[in-house]
Amino acid sequence: MDEDFEMHNENVSETDREIENKLRPLSFSDFKGQDSITENLKVFVQAAKMRGDSLDHVLLHGPPGLGKTTLANIIANELNVGFKVTSGPVLDKPGDLAGLLTGLEEGDVLFIDEIHRLSPIVEEYLYSAMEDFKIDIMIDKGPSARSVEIGLNPFTLIGATTRSGLLTSPLRARFGINSHLQYYDKEILAGIITRSSGILNVPIKENAATEIARRSRGTPRIANSLLRRVRDFAQVKGSGKIDIEISNYALNALNIDKKGLDEVDNKILNTIIDKFNGGPVGITTIATAIGEDGGTVEEVYEPFLIKEGFIKRTPRGREVTELAYKHLGKDILGKNTQTSLF
Ligand code: ADP
Repeated sequence: MDEDFEMHNENVSETDREIENKLRPLSFSDFKGQDSITENLKVFVQAAKMRGDSLDHVLLHGPPGLGKTTLANIIANELNVGFKVTSGPVLDKPGDLAGLLTGLEEGDVLFIDEIHRLSPIVEEYLYSAMEDFKIDIMIDKGPSARSVEIGLNPFTLIGATTRSGLLTSPLRARFGINSHLQYYDKEILAGIITRSSGILNVPIKENAATEIARRSRGTPRIANSLLRRVRDFAQVKGSGKIDIEISNYALNALNIDKKGLDEVDNKILNTIIDKFNGGPVGITTIATAIGEDGGTVEEVYEPFLIKEGFIKRTPRGREVTELAYKHLGKDILGKNTQTSLF
């Protein structure tokens, strides 16, 4: 299983990846938050087990770091089946997919991360595999080339995407279970941080866990990575234990915004205020102004800014709220009243 995870997250260092896997919950009972999703999934998993069927295909969508890979892994564990991991951009030829599919055992889970990035030809190939557990493969070349139908073991496809808007409707329609992960509240993130510090063997005070949680942008991956950085400061500059003083010291040294907003979040707010008088302004215009893709702004950044009350949607576009002006230390006319975000 660890080997499978290596196909994923190529951009993090070996130790980061190892630690991320160590902190990954392996059962529903360790997975905190997203209650309505996990309650439903538990029922579907149990029903599939009782019937001896493979679980219906599952689509998990939501911003990065919220637990899509973790949930897919938990589903496979709870079903007691094998777990294979790949991702949309890696599967560039139907042959790659055919190799994976024919290697699946009965009931196995195949996890495709970034499923919105599958090439159209691979995606089309997936349809009959998902629907009828069959694929056509070409044998021979030239004039004697012909296609042969191969039966597959029933399996469960779990697709993850940060950009559900990019999924084609035929693909979306083939998922029986469709779950949208939400940003986490800070109480739940504090619980995740406390659990992780237990695994990493660093004592942490409750108010310190809450402070780290508050600055984690509603995202468990960020919470765990801030915890590791704070742990470094606690070891070098403190007593090894994480209390509120060392947490504040570390988070300030790391330039982590008080509300957990990242550079792009702040750029979005600054742009709406400075270039568009606080809005209303369309999402595409904002995205162009900051050099980001419109869909990414809409599906990855905007939901958190709305959840935290920095932006509101109006019929004429997005507007920043008073909270955004306050956060950035600007008055309503856009002049600086204070400078520090930290
Ligand atoms: P995604 O696939 O959505 O990008 P991951 O499943 O890789 O996110 O999660 C990132 C990290 O956050 C993992 O290391 C995992 O340990 C942690 N994590 C995510 N969701 C939870 C949760 N609900 N409870 C505890 N840890 C979580």
